[in-house]
Amino acid sequence: MTDHAPQEHRFQAETASLLDMMIHHLYTRREVFLRELISNASDAIDRQRLLALTSAGAGAEADDYRIRLIPDAAAGTLVVEDNGIGMSEEEVVTHLGTIARSGTAAARQGAAAEGQDSTGLIGQFGVGFYSVFMVADEVQVLTRRIEDASGVEWRSSGGEGFQVRRMPDLPHGTRITLHLRRDTPPAAPAVDDAAEAPADERPAAEAFTDPELLRQIVKRHSDFIAFPILLVSPEGSAGVREEQINSTRPLWTRRPAEVSAEDYAEFYHHLAHDWSEPYAVIHQHVEGMREYTALLFIPGRRPVDLDAREHRRGLQLYARRVFIMDECRELMPEYLRFVRGLVDSPDLPLNVSRESIQEDRLLMAMRRQLTRRVLSELAERLGSDRAAYEHFWESFGAVLKEGFHYEPAQAPRLKEICLFRSSSQEGWSTLAEISSRRVEGQSALYYLTGERLDALRSAPQLEALRRRGVEVILLADGIDEIVIAQLGEVDGLPPRSVAQGQLDLEGLPEPPPTEGADSATAVQLEPLLAQLGQQLADRVSAVRVSTRLTDSAACLVDEEGAPSAQLLHILRAMGQEPPAPHRVLEVNAAHPLLQRMQLRAQVSPDDPVLAEYASLLHDLALLAEGTAPADGAGLATRLAAVMTRAMG
Ligand code: ADP
Ligand code: MG
Repeated sequence: MTDHAPQEHRFQAETASLLDMMIHHLYTRREVFLRELISNASDAIDRQRLLALTSAGAGAEADDYRIRLIPDAAAGTLVVEDNGIGMSEEEVVTHLGTIARSGTAAARQGAAAEGQDSTGLIGQFGVGFYSVFMVADEVQVLTRRIEDASGVEWRSSGGEGFQVRRMPDLPHGTRITLHLRRDTPPAAPAVDDAAEAPADERPAAEAFTDPELLRQIVKRHSDFIAFPILLVSPEGSAGVREEQINSTRPLWTRRPAEVSAEDYAEFYHHLAHDWSEPYAVIHQHVEGMREYTALLFIPGRRPVDLDAREHRRGLQLYARRVFIMDECRELMPEYLRFVRGLVDSPDLPLNVSRESIQEDRLLMAMRRQLTRRVLSELAERLGSDRAAYEHFWESFGAVLKEGFHYEPAQAPRLKEICLFRSSSQEGWSTLAEISSRRVEGQSALYYLTGERLDALRSAPQLEALRRRGVEVILLADGIDEIVIAQLGEVDGLPPRSVAQGQLDLEGLPEPPPTEGADSATAVQLEPLLAQLGQQLADRVSAVRVSTRLTDSAACLVDEEGAPSAQLLHILRAMGQEPPAPHRVLEVNAAHPLLQRMQLRAQVSPDDPVLAEYASLLHDLALLAEGTAPADGAGLATRLAAVMTRAMG
């Protein structure tokens, strides 16, 4: 094959289906294709400028970076051209032939797994380059990297594939020509953001050659782009006129009072590739020993790939408005990895490297300040709009709680902004709220950890406390064991597990009397306890009478100071195999079952039914906390035998 013969490529399957969806379902937001192209052009210029500044001989040019929009109504085309970094042949094939962005791919997979239509999900992420096919039925990309001798042409009509061939004599940068569709847009499909543009106002694709419309779209979506966006129109016989249609003042250099919420939101879309509205914006100029500007966003919803390794995290770093690094992780701690944004400082060298950054004292100081700023912003929002904060918490609370692990020194601040579930409330509570509801004589902050909230809500270990009106914090996130370990006292109350050691009810209010008062009288359980202890010797370390039970017959608790069942579960999930410590079986001396077993044990100690019941009691206690007994088949057999006898 010669250099100039076109080479056929097929789109990756994912891409083909995305394209199809783009063309058929996302029509309501057609104009966003322009924002996507301008955003890509701006990124490409950022990278080219950085290259020129840091490596000698990379064709450093003066400040003539720009993005050109060249509409041609007669031909029905629109050209978007930049003098950014361009793409090599290989880059063209991978970047314009596959879904590069992990978030988009992950969103589609997530949607597919849940069996739902991914149209809405895609909308959350921004659609990137492929959005051109909403308005164009044929697209040509001409591009060259400055160091490459020859450039590349990419062509596609958005169907199954695209063609690529080498092209000599291209200027460096990227020129994208859209052959606009001549159709009128089809009726709006029922997608949730359809309201944004009523059907009759949506421009036909051809209208995107109208200079006035282009001006409006740029103003609305791309005004903050740091490079000039030039609208090119014919003038005179052969001349052209170039008019700059954005203001180019980087958004973060403006005074916060001058920036509208819409401007911030547009900038956030560009920066985070997330179309939803940010939950919070922090825009701050800091002067003094170190000078910098920070523009931070807390997203309004959890990205599907938040925990994936490819999740973009960290902030962008600028030095004197020049982009120098993406995903600078040193600027935000791991537990604030959902925060997006940038930092611009005149005190940073342009040639800062990933290695030097780790030691950089200036950066470490910024990170401390920014961390505190984010936490105090959250505290403020918790106070000012509870519902919105709860929504934030449901998206990011589990991540934020990792702060107790990564930065225990922040525990006092984190404590104030954490929300918890508890045994007496339907919704979320702060620690301060829980502590304010403590009962007379309560000397600890009670909690119970487990894997599932619903299992925790009905855990037998809560019974006695619930009867006394004592609220128990229910912890079902993996990280919660660490939170508890770092929590310290809350208003003088130390945290205390209700599933560990003896539960001391001394000093707590007496429970209200129960209906069948005599059945609630505890009886002496010797010799039953000794017998149960023997029969379960290989499963529990002791059997004793419980103070925590009122309704259930039995429950399992940990020995004082032992790792909890939940912690062991986490260790196992991490691939460790800690020796399982024996737990304590606690029985309810007021329960009729135990009272009858006691009678039986006194009369005929060798009755095999007692052994059968011992095993059942233990397994039922496991089930009550949501754990499957090791010998499930044995349990089933024993239970069936008991049921058969009960039927007479
Ligand atoms: P994203 O911008 O989120 O990465 P896009 O679909 O918008 O996704 O673009 C895919 C990739 O194609 C970009 O990451 C970039 O590498 C490349 N690309 C797109 N447009 C340009 C351009 N004008 N100049 C250089 N590279 C580009
Ligand atoms: Mg893009």
